[in-house]
Amino acid sequence: MKAFAYRRTADVRSALTLLAEDDGARYLAGGTNLVDLMKDGVEAPMRLVDVRSLPLDGVRETSDGGLVIGATTTNSDAAAHPEVRRRYPALSQAVLAGASGQLRNTATVGGNLLQRTRCAYFADPSQPCNKRDPGSGCPAITGEHHNHAILGWSRHCVATGPSDMAVALAAFDAVVQYETLDGAGEIPLSDFYLAVGDSPEMETALPAGALITAVTLPASAASPRSRYRKVRERASYAFANVSVAADLDIADGSVRGARIALGGVASRPWRAQVAEEVLQGAPAAADRFRAAADAELSAAEPLRDNRYKVTLARNLIVAVLTELAEGARR
Ligand SMILES: Cc1cc2nc3c(=O)[nH]c(=O)nc-3n(C[C@H](O)[C@H](O)[C@H](O)COP(=O)(O)OP(=O)(O)OC[C@H]3O[C@@H](n4cnc5c(N)ncnc54)[C@H](O)[C@@H]3O)c2cc1C
Ligand code: SF4
Repeated sequence: MKAFAYRRTADVRSALTLLAEDDGARYLAGGTNLVDLMKDGVEAPMRLVDVRSLPLDGVRETSDGGLVIGATTTNSDAAAHPEVRRRYPALSQAVLAGASGQLRNTATVGGNLLQRTRCAYFADPSQPCNKRDPGSGCPAITGEHHNHAILGWSRHCVATGPSDMAVALAAFDAVVQYETLDGAGEIPLSDFYLAVGDSPEMETALPAGALITAVTLPASAASPRSRYRKVRERASYAFANVSVAADLDIADGSVRGARIALGGVASRPWRAQVAEEVLQGAPAAADRFRAAADAELSAAEPLRDNRYKVTLARNLIVAVLTELAEGARR
């Protein structure tokens, strides 16, 4: 690992200033992703600005009945918070489906949103990778890609986004709050992650040097029945092959509204808007759930070795929607 300077501050403005002073600086939260990348030689920041002492942790209610989750709240605390579990259970389930207990005790909400892809070529500086070294190529397209994207990829990068939390946040229309030296701003999660396009190294719409301060969840999205299901290659400590965060609003046997987001299938959380539209006003029945999943996945472009994800995503969407409908009938 290359030598680096370490600074810690309890003041947001000082953190922003410390970062701006050094082009090669990075914020350090739990360090569970950044430090690994430094050890692998993927990242070599000259300075780390530790954000864990900033007054940005905890969960509180907004005036309209939504929730604000501070950026330095640990994944464990976010998942365990009674109001997160009661109003946005799919978010709690998504966070608990990620990593391990020890990692969740250290990892933070801000760091989780900005963790990098788990594509093995990205993590290996001896390999070309457009995301790490723009213009060098994407060996995953013809190489090892069984857990790569089936939706929204480009010929420049086929990696998937790793965050489980972000998938649930996408389903709930969460908003990312940030601070810069020029003031505060916010970005809906739906616009936070950029499409891959020609520039896979550009991952988010966050302005340079911005510090994530919180994530807000709107009151209108709260639902005690929402669900997160994740299929992975081990029972824990593994990233998603496919995951689904979903909620159904059902009245008199018909769907009044649906929220569905997919993980493990694209570079960013994939809001299944086509499926949501198919379900709007439809009977809450298995054939409609299958039709919605098929409509969404008709856009899938699987690679040589990840066709299984199309079937997996279809089955998982149908299973989660069926569970939600059965729960609504009880
Ligand atoms: C073995 C293993 C398995 C894992 N499995 C899963 C999984 O299944 N699902 C899942 O979702 N995650 C998984 N994770 C990822 C883990 O949850 C992330 O490493 C973690 O959430 C990152 O949080 P952190 O606070 O440690 O971030 P850090 O490593 O400290 O930072 C990550 C990035 O975010 C930036 N950053 C951090 N905080 C801020 C802020 N407030 N504002 C601006 N930038 C910031 C840093 O500069 C850095 O670029 C796994 C990790 C490991 C090591
Ligand atoms: S899929 Fe993306 S991250 Fe992986 S090698 Fe290709 S460009 Fe790099």
